[in-house]
Amino acid sequence: MIKTRFAPSPTGYLHVGGLRTALYSYLFAKKHGGKFLLRIEDTDRERYVADGVANILKSLYWASVVPDEGVILSEAKDPSRSDKRDSSAKPQNDNLRITQKGENGPYTQSERLDIYKEYAQKLLDAGHAYYCFCSSERLEKLRADQQAKKMPTGYDGLCAKLDPTESKQKAEAGEKHVMRLKMDKHGETVFNDLIRGEVRFKNELVDDQVLIKSDGFPTYHFAVVVDDHLMGITHIIRGEEWISSVPKHAQLYKYFGWEIPEMAHLPLLLNPDKSKLSKRQGDVAVEDYMKKGYLPEALVNFVAFLGWNPGTEKEMYTMEELVKDFDLAKVGKTGGVFNIEKLDWYNKQYIKNLSNAELVEKAMPWLEEAGVGGRPILEKAVSLERERITILSELPEAIKFVFELPDYKADTLVWKKSSNEEVKNILPKLIEFFDTVDENDWDKQVLEEKTKIWIAEKGFSVGSVLWPMRVALSGQENSPGPFEIAEVLAKKQTITRLQIALEKL
Ligand code: GLU
Repeated sequence: MIKTRFAPSPTGYLHVGGLRTALYSYLFAKKHGGKFLLRIEDTDRERYVADGVANILKSLYWASVVPDEGVILSEAKDPSRSDKRDSSAKPQNDNLRITQKGENGPYTQSERLDIYKEYAQKLLDAGHAYYCFCSSERLEKLRADQQAKKMPTGYDGLCAKLDPTESKQKAEAGEKHVMRLKMDKHGETVFNDLIRGEVRFKNELVDDQVLIKSDGFPTYHFAVVVDDHLMGITHIIRGEEWISSVPKHAQLYKYFGWEIPEMAHLPLLLNPDKSKLSKRQGDVAVEDYMKKGYLPEALVNFVAFLGWNPGTEKEMYTMEELVKDFDLAKVGKTGGVFNIEKLDWYNKQYIKNLSNAELVEKAMPWLEEAGVGGRPILEKAVSLERERITILSELPEAIKFVFELPDYKADTLVWKKSSNEEVKNILPKLIEFFDTVDENDWDKQVLEEKTKIWIAEKGFSVGSVLWPMRVALSGQENSPGPFEIAEVLAKKQTITRLQIALEKL
């Protein structure tokens, strides 16, 4: 069975590049009826962030990239809450618990130290690894000398020459040490990357890497190999920055006599100026997009296309469609450009596809936060702005005028081809006319037809009536059309707002 994994280090948040790696791994597994596993690689204690794991999981679940095995989120049952799943797009987090699922655990590397020790011992016993007692001062000096001589930097193998029995005694006596791999420097490491094709590395350039650090923790290189093997990973999909590590990993697979998984290294994500996508140039954390009110479907659809191209015209993909059509062979070798305008386009499309009720539901956290609300008028109100907003967080500000008329200047009521006097003349008549319209006819189409007939009968120009009407109803220079707003406000509030306008003049 095909099994892929996503193996983040909990250093804070999920990078959009990480979301892409996870998504491709997920899609590949699902497409082939396999499993997607999540492992936490927390062996670098210096870079550990307490909430890191929770943040990553929340982002992945929000995007519906949900692991079948490994570290997962389970909802803690709270009888006081209804079972209805929260369908808002903004992440609600309080009720989640991090757990592990599967038979190959634990799935957090810091809980697997005994396993690494056991496998490190095997290498040591077989003479494929050795203790190294070199001080950091010696290593720094070595590096500086190599750099000065313009030589490739790396460990010089000094401790490999020590007598193993002596080494063992020193280590057991508590002398500070690490364990290193005895790298076979002959020949080349050649492998077939599913994206880049044949890749070759000269083994003489590969360092005797550290396997176990002086704090007893394994290094990434060692733990990743042991875990991918023991967890039954068949396909490793990850960022291109790891490709140069493959010779080290390959050597370990060889020493252990294990089959090496298939590998696919994804090209970098780039800014539109082709520089590497970094925090400095804007948001790179999935959370940032969640908080702004991007819909998960839009972000996933967008991220899927960062490097993958199905080669058709179709751009809108549901997760099911992605699973069906995703193909590693169609992932390009060159970097995917992270173009925020494209993401905005996707978000607008997905917002358009929502019903008013769904839009209200998804935008509820932002509406509540802004104190804008009161159903059922909300559903009508969002219909005014749904085509104009890009992200959900813009919605409260956009529809606020429905609930509370903003203060505006009397001048705004006067259309450019009209005059103060004319507006003063027209508004009372318009109020009188609206008074005669039946509540049952108060919908935008009927109202528009009737009003236009009335305008023609009176001999007014359309602009000199509709402009002040629109400003009076919205309190804004730019707004949706007057009849749409009138319908949402209903008859009484429409007339009230026209009266307020009249008083201003
Ligand atoms: N822990 C590594 C990371 O943070 C995983 C690399 C891999 O997938 O092998 O990206």
